[in-house]
Amino acid sequence: MKSKRRRFWRDNRFRLLLTLELAVMLPAAALIYLNFSHLHSIMRGKKVEALIHRDFQYVLGVSEKRINQEIYAKTDDVRGALNAASIGKPGDAEKQLDEILFTRPWLAHLILFDGDKAITRSQPSCLNDSSVHEEHEAMAKGYREWFSLEGKMLAEQIRKKPQHAIFNSGLTKRNGPESFMTTAIFIPPNASDDHPVLVAASFEPDYLKETFFPRMLHELITQKLSEDDDEPLAMMVFPTPPEGFMSDPKTLVVSPGWGSGKAEVTRNLDNVFRGLSLGIKFQGTTADAIGRRWAVQSFWILGVLSVLMIGGLILAYRSVNRELSLARLKSDFVSNVSHELRTPLALIRLYAETLELGRITTTEKKDEYYRIIRKESERLSSLINNILDFSRIEAGHKEYDFRETDIAELVRNTLDTYRYQIEQQGFALEENLATGIPRVRVDREAIARALVNLVNNALKYSANEKFLGVTLYRQDEDLKLEVSDRGIGIPRREQAKIFEKFYRTGDPLVHNTKGSGLGLALVRHITDAHGGDVQVESTPGKGSKFTLSLPLSGPPQLANETA
Ligand code: ADP
Repeated sequence: MKSKRRRFWRDNRFRLLLTLELAVMLPAAALIYLNFSHLHSIMRGKKVEALIHRDFQYVLGVSEKRINQEIYAKTDDVRGALNAASIGKPGDAEKQLDEILFTRPWLAHLILFDGDKAITRSQPSCLNDSSVHEEHEAMAKGYREWFSLEGKMLAEQIRKKPQHAIFNSGLTKRNGPESFMTTAIFIPPNASDDHPVLVAASFEPDYLKETFFPRMLHELITQKLSEDDDEPLAMMVFPTPPEGFMSDPKTLVVSPGWGSGKAEVTRNLDNVFRGLSLGIKFQGTTADAIGRRWAVQSFWILGVLSVLMIGGLILAYRSVNRELSLARLKSDFVSNVSHELRTPLALIRLYAETLELGRITTTEKKDEYYRIIRKESERLSSLINNILDFSRIEAGHKEYDFRETDIAELVRNTLDTYRYQIEQQGFALEENLATGIPRVRVDREAIARALVNLVNNALKYSANEKFLGVTLYRQDEDLKLEVSDRGIGIPRREQAKIFEKFYRTGDPLVHNTKGSGLGLALVRHITDAHGGDVQVESTPGKGSKFTLSLPLSGPPQLANETA
């Protein structure tokens, strides 16, 4: 019967743990593995860097558009300032071009081509510079030739452009380092269609280098153009190196915070600033470093989460295991208790019936039967008291009645009740109760019950050497009550567990002996309520010693009322 129940529990436990492993552990392990390998593949494929670069391409695209729009607006402004009516009149055109140049210092040259005649005007302040003068001459000649050759075709091209202008750009020779100039070519308003009328407006290289690009770059890096804008950006403008020419480009303009190092991503500008490129990078870091930092952070987070998950699973596993053990202990408890109730009841009934029938004639026999009835009823009430006490404790209703007590007298009285039974069972009782122990505030009934439980255990769990020792003495500020036996003993690993409710050791003698697994749980509760504790020293095969320690100062204040 017992082994069937055990098998049932074993199977049940196995099924539950298997379910836990299949339904929780395996998916969790798979999740952790997949996450780690996914992270690894992101790192190996440098996907974070690729994402950053894609984002940079986008930012550069938007930046070029913004830069172009600014130049288109300025071109429109120059176009708007031209009055076609005065263009044809001799002398008027020059005056008008000079005025436009005067009010727009960001222009370097203006060339007006009307049929076969070309007027070239430049910023008067700059013409003193020989290199600007040379530039003026070269422009005047170059554009006149170009316009007279291809003017018609150019006019057609310009009409097709949405911004109604085309741009001619490139490096120009001026004193000092790199100079870059772009020239907008457009048709002035109300120009006649009979012959090509074209205007070329060159943007001043110094203005582009010192004012226009620095302002644009500053605006572009401070505006939030990208989604990932945690890291501040830096940009630069540089002349596009010839194709296949990989050496470090000379910079034209750099934004603040560029520092040193190469651009992460570059973009060759088209249309307005053909010949220039835009470069972008992070201020003070690189996409590679960000990618690595991200990977390290992700590994850490994943690692910590995995540890938490594994910790949680271990806790869940342990608590399921504990619940299963508790359920088994409870089931054992029910069967043990019913068994324990049935036996004394059956004996009491049997002996009472025999006495009732009047078949027993000798007084000794009668006395023996009465004793058995008393003993069995005592066993019954002790068991019922244990159960009742335990259920009160579990429900939090147990109350203690602490009174000044002579403990030695209490122990002696309690032992007296059991003395006969102890001796009957062939036990040698050694009683050592110190004298002169001060009176202590205890709950008499509870301490007696604790002692009875310990004595009963000593009787139950002794096989060959039947010895019971009860010692009472004072140690410092504590009162010690020891109950020792030379019985089966308790293995070390089970010594802490025996105080848990329903727990019974795996010893065969314990399994063949009736018990509820509540006695020691009660003893511990009682000593706790008195502000003391209970300890066990035991060697398997040699015996056990249980020691109750109670403070002479009495129970803690709280325990005086309710425990
Ligand atoms: P019960 O005796 O009803 O099983 P207890 O709570 O009193 O419950 O004891 C719990 C377990 O501790 C016992 O089942 C037994 O395995 C072990 N135990 C208690 N006292 C002793 C002892 N004196 N010697 C050996 N084992 C003991």
